[in-house]
Order: sequence, then C-alpha cells, then structure tokens
Amino acid sequence: MSTETLTRAAEWPGLLNAEGKRWHYLDTAATAQKPQSVIDAMTRAMGADYATVHRGVYTRSAEMTLAYEAARRTVAALIGGREDELVFTRGATEAINLVAQTWGVTNLKPGDRVLLSQLEHHSNIVPWQLIRDRTGLEIDVCPLTEDGRIDLDAAERMLTPAHKLVAFAHVSNVLGSVLDVPRAVALAHGVGAKILLDGCQAAARLPVDVAALGCDFYVFSAHKLYGPTGIGALWAKKDLLDAMPPWQGGGSMIDRVTFAQTTWAPAPQRFEAGTPAIVEAIAFGAAADFLTSHGLDAIHAHETRMVAMAREALGRINSVRLFGPEDSAGIVSFALEGVHPHDLGTILDEENVAIRAGHHCAQPLMEHLGVPATARASFGIYSDESDVAALLRGIERTKRIFG
Ligand code: PMP
Repeated sequence: MSTETLTRAAEWPGLLNAEGKRWHYLDTAATAQKPQSVIDAMTRAMGADYATVHRGVYTRSAEMTLAYEAARRTVAALIGGREDELVFTRGATEAINLVAQTWGVTNLKPGDRVLLSQLEHHSNIVPWQLIRDRTGLEIDVCPLTEDGRIDLDAAERMLTPAHKLVAFAHVSNVLGSVLDVPRAVALAHGVGAKILLDGCQAAARLPVDVAALGCDFYVFSAHKLYGPTGIGALWAKKDLLDAMPPWQGGGSMIDRVTFAQTTWAPAPQRFEAGTPAIVEAIAFGAAADFLTSHGLDAIHAHETRMVAMAREALGRINSVRLFGPEDSAGIVSFALEGVHPHDLGTILDEENVAIRAGHHCAQPLMEHLGVPATARASFGIYSDESDVAALLRGIERTKRIFG
C-alpha cells in the first residue's frame, strides 16, 4: 500500500500546523496523531451517546455499556486476545504497575529474580524497583547486542529457575529494535518464568497475536495507537488474571460489600475500580478498528520503507551516528556530531519538523550508548517521503549553523 493510499484514507487534523499547512510530525513514538474517525467516535461518545456504564437501568446507559464492552472486544482482538482477558488501564505504565502490585506482590518471594533488559523504558523498570523492598526480588539486566537488540543468547545464559518473570519491550522506543518474541517466550517458559511484553511501540507497528506468541502479559497505550490519552490495556492469560487480587478498591470491582467482608467481581472488572474512562475506551475501540482496517502488515511495510529511506539518507551524512539495527520498526535514533540533540530539535522545529530529543525515558540505555540523549525520528501510518526530506534539510541547516 502506498503512503498516499494509507494517508488519504483518513483525515488528520493534528497534521496541520497553525497556518493550516501540513507539518512534518516525526514524533509518533511519543504519541500518534489521531484520524478523524477516532475524533468523531470520541465526540459522539462524549456527546449524543453519553451516559454511564454498568449501572444504569435506562436505555442510553445500557447502550453505552454495550459500546464499552464492544470496545474491549475490539481492542483485545487487535492483539489476538479475548475480551475477558483485557483490562482497561490508564495506559501501559499503569498496566505494568498493576501487574507488579498484584501478580508481583502475590507471587514474588525473597530471592526470586526478574529479568529486564538494558533498553527498557522507565515504566518497565521502576514498577519492579518499587516492589523490590516489599517482595525481596532481585533484578537482573539483560545486555544488548552490538546493533542494539536484546541479546537473547545472554538471556539464555542468565536465566535460572529463580527467575519468575522476564519483562522485555517488544519494540524499543529508542532503537526500534524488534524482539524475537517466540524465542524470548521459550527461554522464559523454559525456566518456569512468566513473560511480560511491553507492546507500547509494537502494537501500532506490527501484527501481534498474543495467543500465538504464548506470552503471559502484554501491555500497551491507546495514544500510541492513534487513539486517545488516558487509556491503555493490560492483556493477561485468563488463569493469571483470575488468580490476581485487586489493587484498587471502589465501585464496579466488587461482588458484595459488607463492613465485615467484601467479595470481588470476576476479572477483568475486578481491576477497574470506579467509573471507567468510558469515552476514551470507546475511542480506543475506534482506533483499533482503524488499525485493523488498514492492516498491520501494510502499516509495518510502510514504516519499514520510511525507516530504510531515513537510515540510508542519514547514513550518507558523515557527522551522523545512527543507533539501532537496520530493521528497526518505525523508529530511527541518531546523533549529529558536535550538536546537542536539543539544539537540533529546536532548529528542526523552525523548519516545521518535530522530532524527539532526550533520553526517551530510557536512561540506562543512554548510559549504554554513552550519550546523554539522542535525536529520534519516528514514523507512523501518515509519514511520507516529504517528512524524511524535511528532516534532511533541517539537519543540513543545523550543520551550517554549527559550522
Ligand atoms: N514503554 C514504551 C516502550 C514506551 O514507548 C512508552 C511510552 N513512551 C511506555 C512504555 C509508557 O507508555 P505510557 O506513558 O503511555 O504509559
């Protein structure tokens, strides 16, 4: 599918700048712009269709409940899961914290080990540190290969029966490196560990089928999938979810409440205390529909072309250092010699090009790369050749400014 076919099929208000002209948005890994279909679904849910869910006896509320649960079904189906395995959370960060605070606190004992990797986002590091003191768990860090992948040969050597969990990014938000999930799952399960995949970057870029992959937990955020902020999902195998205790108490997550004792609703409701993000969930469903209608294979192929084009062009500039593997999914991190990424980002902004510059919430990875920050261009379904060309023009101008 050509860029034009992919982009023309939808309108993108966020891709226009203040003058109503298209700008070069290369920060989709931070958050994706929204197609009009998602904006419309959100507006409808907040306006003409609005009512609460799960409680109302009136028709509008019953319809809203159906729409909310349909969204759960659609979002679960996007990653090959079932609706009773999918918990709506505030985002991937909350989903990982949920697993740590419930499954982790219940199952991890002193001496148990968790294997993370050097390239993890802080949201897949800090939640495990937060429960380290409560559980006595030990954290191990899997190194990376020369080209910036999680080194699964090293993981194989490191894993022992003391490891109860492996938690890896499916796609790195800095390097775009794609995890060999079947091998990672086999390695984790080989020592009896569970495996959590941080699918934040993967779910909008690659076809994902959790049932076929055999992972135990999969987390992602709607806003990176062309959906709204404030909502994301935890998918977990049903037996794991059923055995996990609640972590937040309140309405909707109970079966019966008395002052003497309270019993819980079944999963996934047990993990959704309070009035949920109804509007956002419905728009999340619309975003999942949007992705499915374009096809993750086509989106992946498109972003692979964008990455190849960008890496090839950047690779021709002597003063550019490229990070990450050739086959990065949708993301290119780089450094321009003698120019701080923040300065580059500021000059690119003057050229109507938005990149991300910083540590990308992956400070241990920056330490590994030996840099305080990188510049990151990340692509989406709407990216095209003009975005890469604008990036290159901006870099050339920056080089001239810095002499
Ligand atoms: N993991 C990865 C790989 C990410 O890219 C991000 C977002 N930058 C997160 C986790 C956290 O997602 P959120 O902030 O939406 O919870």
